[in-house]
Amino acid sequence: MKKENKFSKEYICRHVWNILINLAKNHKTAFYENVRDNIFENFGIRYSNQYIGSLLSPIQDHCLENDKPPLTALIINKQKKLPGIGFIAADVSIRQQFEQLKQRIFNYNWDLEDSPFQGYDTTNASVDSYAKQIVNHPDTSKEVWRKVKDRGQCQRIFREGLLLAYEYKCAICGFSFDDSLQAAHIKAYANAEPSEKISIKNGLLLCPNHHALYDKHRFWITREYTVDYDPDVELIGIGDNDCLKKFKGKKITLPKNKELWPDKELLKQH
Ligand SMILES: [Zn+2]
Repeated sequence: MKKENKFSKEYICRHVWNILINLAKNHKTAFYENVRDNIFENFGIRYSNQYIGSLLSPIQDHCLENDKPPLTALIINKQKKLPGIGFIAADVSIRQQFEQLKQRIFNYNWDLEDSPFQGYDTTNASVDSYAKQIVNHPDTSKEVWRKVKDRGQCQRIFREGLLLAYEYKCAICGFSFDDSLQAAHIKAYANAEPSEKISIKNGLLLCPNHHALYDKHRFWITREYTVDYDPDVELIGIGDNDCLKKFKGKKITLPKNKELWPDKELLKQH
């Protein structure tokens, strides 16, 4: 289910960042629908409200990592007039908390802030070409990582590379909605060696369910590339069976090129 998108996600995030800065300076909030319509007007792309959430999430991460007031709180939903469920930077379950947070965002001097997405290309060109490089020449992943360094862009290259290597399908179940497929690190990015940070051999392309379960060690992949899980784990719902039980002992789907298969040592450490 490969979809072409002319603009890179970072480029659109940069636009959303500017929307948020303007809201903050004018002491205003906006609805998800307003952001959605604004993107449609500027880029001609019709996104869902959920996707707007995924554009806000790197901005939220940036604010959290750099101790800035969480700008993304200014985008609220129509029903509750509060930030959506993706907003985790502060507790806003009580209206008064939200009002205080808003004031903190409004009073901050955003003139001194550079956009965290300044350096990004208009298109996915550089992400795509680096992704192809790490798939076609796996031994150059360290070089690419050194060149790019930026965590967000590294993650995009890693994900694009995994999409190519795993042909747009979850390695466990074959789920293929490409905008929902996720790049899972076998050894966490933070602990990985430079040669492993964006190496396809340190990754798996997974659907959101399998990614969450893998990160929480609810199942693992053996050195024979089969799925296994703790026999004591209780599987109750139909979904539990669909998600785990029926894959027990089954071999995962691997990239065509053996050089891209997950590193057995990393799988064991995980
Ligand atoms: Zn899956």
